[in-house]
Amino acid sequence: MSESVRIVACPTCRTEVRWEPQSRYRPFCSERCRLIDLGQWASENYRVPAEEENPPGEPPQSPH
Ligand SMILES: [Zn+2]
Repeated sequence: MSESVRIVACPTCRTEVRWEPQSRYRPFCSERCRLIDLGQWASENYRVPAEEENPPGEPPQSPH
C-alpha cells in the first residue's frame, strides 16, 4: 500500500478533502465550511429550550 491518504467529501460543500494532518478542518474543506455546519447545528439546538418557555398545565390551586 503506497497510498494511505483518504479522500472525504466536505459535509457542507462536497469538496474533496484529503484526510491528513495538514487538513486542519477535516472533514470540512475549510474553516468557513466548518463554521457553517456548526452554525446550523447550534441554531437548530437553540430552538428547543425556547419552546418550553410556557409549559402547558393548570395553575396550582392554593388550599383554603
Ligand atoms: Zn467545504
